[in-house]
Amino acid sequence: MAFDFDLFVIGAGSGGVRAARFAAGFGARVAVAESRYLGGTCVNVGCVPKKLLVYGAHYSEDFEQAHGFGWSVDEPRFDWPTLIANKNREIERLNGIYRNLLVNSGVTLLEAHARIKDPHTVEVDGKSYTAAHILVATGGWPQVPDIPGKEHAITSNEAFFLKALPRRVLVVGGGYIAVEFASIFNGMGAQTTQVYRGPLFLRGFDQAVREHLRDELVKKGIDLKFDADVARIDKRADGTLAATLKDGSVIETDCVFYATGRRPMLDNLGLENTGVKLDEKGFIAVDDEYRTSEPSILALGDVIGRVPLTPVALAEGMAVARRLFRPEEYRKVDYKLIPTAVFSLPNIGTVGMTTEEARAAGHKIKLFESRFRPMKLTLTGSQEKTLMKLIVDADTDKVLGVHMVGPEAGEIVQGIAIALKAGATKRVFDDTIGIHPTAAEEFVTLR
Ligand code: FAD
Ligand code: NDP
Repeated sequence: MAFDFDLFVIGAGSGGVRAARFAAGFGARVAVAESRYLGGTCVNVGCVPKKLLVYGAHYSEDFEQAHGFGWSVDEPRFDWPTLIANKNREIERLNGIYRNLLVNSGVTLLEAHARIKDPHTVEVDGKSYTAAHILVATGGWPQVPDIPGKEHAITSNEAFFLKALPRRVLVVGGGYIAVEFASIFNGMGAQTTQVYRGPLFLRGFDQAVREHLRDELVKKGIDLKFDADVARIDKRADGTLAATLKDGSVIETDCVFYATGRRPMLDNLGLENTGVKLDEKGFIAVDDEYRTSEPSILALGDVIGRVPLTPVALAEGMAVARRLFRPEEYRKVDYKLIPTAVFSLPNIGTVGMTTEEARAAGHKIKLFESRFRPMKLTLTGSQEKTLMKLIVDADTDKVLGVHMVGPEAGEIVQGIAIALKAGATKRVFDDTIGIHPTAAEEFVTLR
């Protein structure tokens, strides 16, 4: 049977664009449908605008610290609408780049919602297109628990477009997005409270990292409430929001920001017209080559709920394009030792096992840890401390995990992740000459 396309990609986000571009580059006839924004979550309402807001939030500390270096900065004032307008302009520029990337690589771009009609047919804007393979790369969407008054809450989707910076913000959740946005709002000058349902946020990260970040956020003025959750939200006549916690206490605020996880985006996708099965958490179930239970349909990225990070979606997109159209270059995605950063202020950077995971896996471990005041802060009143930690297998000397909380932790740990991928031992770290004076050199001088 002759199809209109070799590959039809639904979703022009991180994974979809990567798969489409490379498949077209390998000579395949490719179409992409995108209903909302080119570049997907990361470019429009994720990594990119988030990082710009984090940079913006850090200026409040920079102005304060400048005094120690002899600068006097009169009354710095922050204007949220200026930052948002500049951010929007940059995102539009990136949308244009994504459009050019796709079009120039020969991909047919359809800017509308796509719905699967049968295992080889996709409908876009009332028109049907057939394809040998359909790739679902539709990403995720914020999920807010069903509590009375949830309509008064916003999520990260709306936070990027707020007209004004709220005077008071209540952040709900204890994952990446909650911690990052608590830092953003606090840095911008909003009175920030964060509530998390468990005893300590960032479940799954190294315990020392979680405790260190908790202490640093408290120093910076964030009101952290653990073992706490919102039971209902009421809006008062003057517009103030009253969030009643499960213990009956009430927090008055101007904005309730929910970051309680993301669900797969399957809305009106037409999966019921296919044999695609979901896993127990509702994500699309795939095998280790991204094949769903419907032979012609593949899925990757956040919609499969494996590791919801942009570089992982990119790697999966590349793997799909190669396996289908350049099999001689195909390599499986390696999910081991994926480095990650949380862009809280200060940042977390981490790769490899946590102390808890290493012990649970039966490793006899040696821990190396350093806490210090970064040199840049020594002339300032800041009491911020950096944490660096290595977890080493006592039998093999292999470095199992590297963790940092401090300025540029993501930048530093990205480099160290290469050493871990190469199987570096603590001896290799010790034999590496440091770059002085840096914070990163601490990783090669820990004894
Ligand atoms: P997406 O990028 O979500 O793309 C899916 C696309 O499909 C969307 O554009 C959507 O409009 C489109 N679509 C959906 N349904 C249809 C349909 N039926 N028809 C047509 N189009 C459709 N990751 C990091 O690595 N680093 C970070 O710093 C980081 N920060 C983040 C901050 C926030 C606030 C959020 C929400 C996420 C962040 N992430 C970060 C995660 C990252 O954004 C995602 O892992 C990544 O975007 C997933 O890529 P994807 O291709 O699976 O999906
Ligand atoms: P996460 O899964 O990281 O965190 C969700 C948080 O919400 C957890 O603390 C969870 O608690 C809590 N939670 C879940 N359900 C409820 C509920 N019903 N009531 C109260 N609390 C609840 O999700 P995020 O939304 O923060 O981010 C989604 C993903 O996007 C991340 O996992 C990450 O992969 C990616 N991302 C990456 C970033 C980066 O690389 N810097 C930045 C932002 C996002 P509990 O732990 O108890 O389950």
